[in-house]
Amino acid sequence: MRTPTRLLAAAAVLFAAPVSAQTYAIQADSVVADASGEASGPATVTVTDGRIVSIVDGFQTAPEGGETIRLEGQTLVPGLIDLHVHLTGDPGGDFWREAVEPAEWGVVVGAKNAEATVRAGFTTVREAGSAQQTAFALRRGTEEGLITGPRIVAAGPPLAIIGGHGDVTGFLPEINEILSSGYSCTGPVECAAKVRRASQNGANVIKITATGGVLSQQGRGLEAHFTDTEMKSIADTAHSLGLKVMAHAHGARGIEAASRAGIDTIEHGTYLDEAAAREMVKNGTVLIPTLMAFQGVTERLGQGIYTPVVEDKIRAVAETAKTFMGKAMDWGVPIAFGTDAGVFEHGRNAGEFALMKSQGMSDRDALASATTRAAEVLEMENEIGRIASGYSADMIAVSGNPLRDVTVLENVDWVMVRGRIVE
Ligand SMILES: [Zn+2]
Repeated sequence: MRTPTRLLAAAAVLFAAPVSAQTYAIQADSVVADASGEASGPATVTVTDGRIVSIVDGFQTAPEGGETIRLEGQTLVPGLIDLHVHLTGDPGGDFWREAVEPAEWGVVVGAKNAEATVRAGFTTVREAGSAQQTAFALRRGTEEGLITGPRIVAAGPPLAIIGGHGDVTGFLPEINEILSSGYSCTGPVECAAKVRRASQNGANVIKITATGGVLSQQGRGLEAHFTDTEMKSIADTAHSLGLKVMAHAHGARGIEAASRAGIDTIEHGTYLDEAAAREMVKNGTVLIPTLMAFQGVTERLGQGIYTPVVEDKIRAVAETAKTFMGKAMDWGVPIAFGTDAGVFEHGRNAGEFALMKSQGMSDRDALASATTRAAEVLEMENEIGRIASGYSADMIAVSGNPLRDVTVLENVDWVMVRGRIVE
């Protein structure tokens, strides 16, 4: 955020609006209301009680008691959506920290990161794995406005196989046992029970680690860890409860199996091949590429941050990470925006746009991936992802036109989330 103070100070001086105002008239030089449309000329967006009520050409002022905000030289864009973040953690850090830091610390770290995320223009995030209550506490905190941050759709602890990515590994057996989240499962019956447990405890989405992972201490490869029947049980049970399933997956056969089982989104998807892509297209499975995660971990190689087993896995994945999303696009796989923030510094989320472009995605598609398409993944397409009347007032202001160059979203000057201005 480069200039919010100047803009808001100007608004306050000119109009002396009360801070309790529930109606805002937001004047911008241009509005990109929808990633499928074009940039407008000067326009005014009116917001009442957290909802967008109108968009009109030209500048209008707020009614008596409302506040008029002039975003000079700015384009108003729908608030961005990141479908894969870990708010309660920061990058690097020794794996043994989970044995010495209480879960509550995750809420403190998460409050800091929620603010960094929303200031970067991300007004909705999907929390992709945390301790039992930490992400849920943050979700309530931003909803009630007690802390500054985005709308949070949260998974809570991921389901994993015993000792797999997402479970605890690397400690003495008795320590692993104590630190376990209680969400590892074996067999379709127990896995169904764990989905129901996650739902009971407040999950908005079910996260599973379908294959091995890069940053965990387990060195058992990147292919499918859950069996086909376990994944089908997880998907069917989640869907019966109205929940979607997001699956961490790297290996091609693991991706293919997860898609066939009915998993809704593949997170990372690194070693996706044509057969896996075909299965995803057939089932409408969406890829969340998290290119920033690969960038983030590569930046930290050779600094003694990761253990040798993890360093080996990162080096193996780095080259593929530069090309797999472009291939997925060519094969017709639907792609939505997600970064894995937490693996790199929160607030750098918009760096993903340049990486998507470098693999051949157009500016318009990249903007859609983080607005309308991400909203569809969340089944919130009538609530967020557009500047339209009736929608939640989630908007950001930037210099330039993101339909021409989506990387202008790396510098966000002004943010409104749920009708609240981030000051
Ligand atoms: Zn992740």
